[in-house]
Amino acid sequence: LTDTRESMYLVSEFAKTYFHNTLLNSEEGKAIGYSYFKERGFTNETIKKFSLGYSPESWDAFTKEALGKGYKLEFLESTGLTIPKEDRPFDRFKGRVMFPIESMSGRVLGFGGRILTNDKKAAKYLNSPESEIYHKSKVLYGIYQAKQAIAKLNNCYLVEGYTDVIQFNQSGIENVVASSGTALTPDQIRLINRLTKNITVLFDGDAAGLRASVRGIDLILEEGMNVKVCTFPDGEDPDSFAKKTSYDDLVYYLENNSKDFIQFKASLLMNEAKNDPVKKADLIRDMVGSISKIPDRIQREIYIQECSRIMDISEQVLQSTLAQLSQKEV
Ligand code: ATP
Ligand code: MN
Ligand code: MN
Ligand code: MN
Repeated sequence: LTDTRESMYLVSEFAKTYFHNTLLNSEEGKAIGYSYFKERGFTNETIKKFSLGYSPESWDAFTKEALGKGYKLEFLESTGLTIPKEDRPFDRFKGRVMFPIESMSGRVLGFGGRILTNDKKAAKYLNSPESEIYHKSKVLYGIYQAKQAIAKLNNCYLVEGYTDVIQFNQSGIENVVASSGTALTPDQIRLINRLTKNITVLFDGDAAGLRASVRGIDLILEEGMNVKVCTFPDGEDPDSFAKKTSYDDLVYYLENNSKDFIQFKASLLMNEAKNDPVKKADLIRDMVGSISKIPDRIQREIYIQECSRIMDISEQVLQSTLAQLSQKEV
């Protein structure tokens, strides 16, 4: 570990503790940050488990505190916690509730900060900038808290946001991580692959969530993993859904609505494609396209059989479509 990176980890760890203590112990933190999390239904135990915090609404309260404790401006700035300005550098996350982003081994790599208002003009979430310790395409929010449960249950739920991870944990489902706003990347999938071969994608019940799920499928298949998709009612995300659902009902919902990717793709377009041969053909090509991403030949074979059954089309035709697709890629 270089000295630079070590110093960046240390100042990030300090920031986590500072934001967490500010949330729990300062007048402003309690009145604004803590009550915000309470309104979202988070318990003290949850706030602690995820070291949630609050960054004061002040130009440089955090930066001053850190400098006073001997942390160097250089590392406050390289982690992005402090934004450079000639005579008075300032706090990046001022006035936001804070979500520390940790590595598989629990080191603080960066932060997400959420505004408390619903001001549509301001970015709802602000993240740490890319740095020597924070590469957003290589991290999964919640992985530290989730890793044991993922390995034990041999499945990982993949959600979009911080609060989805947190609300699921509070509901008793711990094998969950978030891609946190970036489109899913191969590095993120490989992180999960170290713990399990099974991913269930639980994206938001809106058009963006649906598109992201579809994109995620092929990436996961390419890594040789099994992928299921569970959708939520329109307008719901895992957080809002879990918040109003009991543990038993949530588990029941997940079990009964998780479809493997073939069934998911079929159900997505089947209704409009049913009586339209052109659309049905497009859908079948799309499904075979996903199947072609699977590295294992036997697995491809099994999915071809399933696709044949669901779409009521001969395996032979599917095999030749698959062969055409593989040829194009060579
Ligand atoms: P909340 O429930 O707090 O309103 P959410 O997690 O449901 O937030 P979404 O709008 O569904 O938010 O976005 C999913 C994730 O995408 C967020 O958790 C966050 O990681 C990321 N994200 C959302 N908006 C932004 C933004 N403006 N800038 C950067 N990342 C964002
Ligand atoms: Mn969304
Ligand atoms: Mn959401
Ligand atoms: Mn939400």
